[in-house]
Amino acid sequence: MEPRKAPERLPEKPRRGLVLVITGDGKGKTTSCLGMAVRAVGYGMKVLMVQFIKGSLHYGELDGAKRLAPEFELLPMGKGFVGIRGDSLPMEEHVAAAREALALARERMLSGKYDVIILDEVNVAVRLGLLDVKEVLALIGEKPANVHLILSGRNAHEEVIRVAHLVSEVRSIKHPYDQGIEAEKGIDY
Ligand code: ATP
Ligand code: MG
Repeated sequence: MEPRKAPERLPEKPRRGLVLVITGDGKGKTTSCLGMAVRAVGYGMKVLMVQFIKGSLHYGELDGAKRLAPEFELLPMGKGFVGIRGDSLPMEEHVAAAREALALARERMLSGKYDVIILDEVNVAVRLGLLDVKEVLALIGEKPANVHLILSGRNAHEEVIRVAHLVSEVRSIKHPYDQGIEAEKGIDY
């Protein structure tokens, strides 16, 4: 059999660091971010994903990310569900965790060591009042020109949508949950 020819590569062009927002009520926002991380790591790019709110449950991506280390780092910095599903933490703790996560993301973004910064569920943190949208807009405003910044989570704030280069809304048409099917390993977590 003929050896398969290496696939063609697009010509190199200078990087234009983008602000991307993945929002909407359908499933696929966090997994879209993970997909972009896999893609970027393929070019040796350094990717940091900071997760807001998430931090108390185990997700497959925590171990999947380790397989893409050291180029991909995933830091769950939340305290879990806010005000639902048995959450008994004082709101101040959720707020403090979100502020710490944003400060860390900003510091890393400005360090010059990362090509892609992902703020997973940051839109939800703003929606729930854990972060002021002004703090998120300030971080977007400080983004170095060569860094891609991705903000995920449902109910993205209109001001964040306004300043982004790309906004995709994942719309739910059907979800197994509505048919009484619980979350599936490898698909939902
Ligand atoms: P994923 O992490 O699978 O990409 P997501 O980031 O788009 O999902 P989130 O709003 O962060 O969605 O919710 C995470 C969890 O909630 C996932 O287990 C997902 O399957 C589930 N979920 C997402 N959309 C819906 C929906 N419309 N109805 C019920 N459950 C949903
Ligand atoms: Mg998500």
